[in-house]
Amino acid sequence: MCGIIGYTGNENSIPFVLEGIKSLEYRGYDSFGCAFQGKNNNIEIRKDAGRINKIIDNYSLDKEISNKSIAHTRWATHGGVTKMNSHPMLDCSGKIAVVHNGIIENFKELKESLPNHLFSSETDTEVLPHLIEEEMANGKNFEEAVIAVSEKITGFSSFVVMNADSDNIIAVKSGSPLVLGVRDKGMFVASDVPSFLKYTNKVVYLSDGDVIAINKAGFKILKSNNPTKHKVREVTFSIADIDKGKYKHFMLKEIMEQQSLVSKLVNSDLSYIKNAASLVSLSKRVFLLGSGSSFHIALLTANLFRDLGKDAIAVQPQDLLNYSKTISKEDVFMIISQSGETMDVIESLPIIKDNKKIGIINTEGSTLANVVDYFINVNAGHEKGVAATKTFTMSAILSCLIAMFSAGEEREALNDLNLLNINLYNLFVPSVYKTIKDTALILKKEKDIFFLGRGNDYISAMEAALKMKEVTYIHSEAIDSATFKHGPLALISKGTYSVALVSDRFKDREINNLKEIKARNGKIIGIANEKMDVFDVFIRSQPAGIFSFVPQVILSQLLSYYISLSKHIDPDHPRNLAKAVTTK
Ligand code: GLU
Repeated sequence: MCGIIGYTGNENSIPFVLEGIKSLEYRGYDSFGCAFQGKNNNIEIRKDAGRINKIIDNYSLDKEISNKSIAHTRWATHGGVTKMNSHPMLDCSGKIAVVHNGIIENFKELKESLPNHLFSSETDTEVLPHLIEEEMANGKNFEEAVIAVSEKITGFSSFVVMNADSDNIIAVKSGSPLVLGVRDKGMFVASDVPSFLKYTNKVVYLSDGDVIAINKAGFKILKSNNPTKHKVREVTFSIADIDKGKYKHFMLKEIMEQQSLVSKLVNSDLSYIKNAASLVSLSKRVFLLGSGSSFHIALLTANLFRDLGKDAIAVQPQDLLNYSKTISKEDVFMIISQSGETMDVIESLPIIKDNKKIGIINTEGSTLANVVDYFINVNAGHEKGVAATKTFTMSAILSCLIAMFSAGEEREALNDLNLLNINLYNLFVPSVYKTIKDTALILKKEKDIFFLGRGNDYISAMEAALKMKEVTYIHSEAIDSATFKHGPLALISKGTYSVALVSDRFKDREINNLKEIKARNGKIIGIANEKMDVFDVFIRSQPAGIFSFVPQVILSQLLSYYISLSKHIDPDHPRNLAKAVTTK
């Protein structure tokens, strides 16, 4: 996935798009580029591989002045990370500039249909400016040409086009997110709201199929499947929500925010959960769909549903086809997605077109939020750290609340939520930080770490291992403690570290498994509610009933964060990753 921002209006657009694109860096950070209207109405391009700040400095881009510009931060899918493959891409005349987020599946055929055009990159994106040029050479005006091109490409692709001879910037949305920002003196188009929130809180969410022109006077719908949907709305979150504040990294800020988010949830009106829960209670079976951390939430919730006597299955979207013959109309789907743009999930939607869908999603206006029957806004605020932290916790809590409410266990659910709220205060104490920081210094030298647990503790272990991989690059593997002796135990030798997650349900059995590791001279870091002899290091978690996974996961997030710091890795920008996976 990539980040896109554009501005056109009566003000200098350069500071707007540079500030905006830096805030979009979480979406990809291979390369950066900017196109702006030059003094002679020509298009100027500055682009390169590498991090945004450095490229801006190298080209003194912040000294430029222009009323119209577009910028892009890339996460490469087609073609290496090079200057030539960086966006924006130009047509042969140098008058049409395009930035693009997505994949053009038929780009090879399209490229072959343009034998007289000169291509200078290996990207799929480059066909776009040349196709627009070709359509215009065949007599279409700029707007008609972009519409025609949007109809020729296949796959999910959103893109933004600038033309040296037009006041309009044109945005095409399909799959990847695009939103407009409305300002008195001009208009933004961008991949997310926070990238321009400092300058306007008035937004228009775009839908797939939209082709929209913006200029200093406002926006015009050139083509849309939902022409009535383009209301200007005011967003409720503020710039303070998207700032690092006193923290060095977004990841730490977002880990620390979890406590206040839980407390906000405890004090909020939860009637919207009841509506989703009644949809679930009327269903025959619940499918929970998610990728990455969201799949772990699906697994946790499916366990809970089954404990409550409801048939439930957690599925990753790529496996859904395998279930298609068993899905009936009476089955309800709970879709979990932080961004609401996860491509694997979007692609699986045709399989479940006849089923009722509840979306547990953190991004209002996103593709998935727009297609579900019932949208539960996770309301965790914008998450900028690439590794999911607060969105994992809050989505998981909401998902479990739906399960409990659907089984008539509201009172028990709210008691556990209150317990969690209280015990998160007890979790964040100086002695725990000290242990975590000391443990980080021990583990930073490791090449492999195992995460162990049984039942839900095993799922917490999966989430903990994923965080460790993402921000520390240490090979980390979650293994069900019960299956450890069926093979993986062979991996333990003197000094091998395992992190054991132990809550109360299977405690005794878990301890027996851990003893088997100790007998092979393995070392054990225990994340548990009480100290046990089998632990070499003890990190104190807190009980929270059905939400006991929350404190465990928060502690493991902190552990990964501090290991990342001690290895001089930037935890907000781990290599090769991007925040939402908008590719297949
Ligand atoms: N396919 C384009 C490229 O490789 C855009 C990538 C993306 O959106 O992730 O440059």
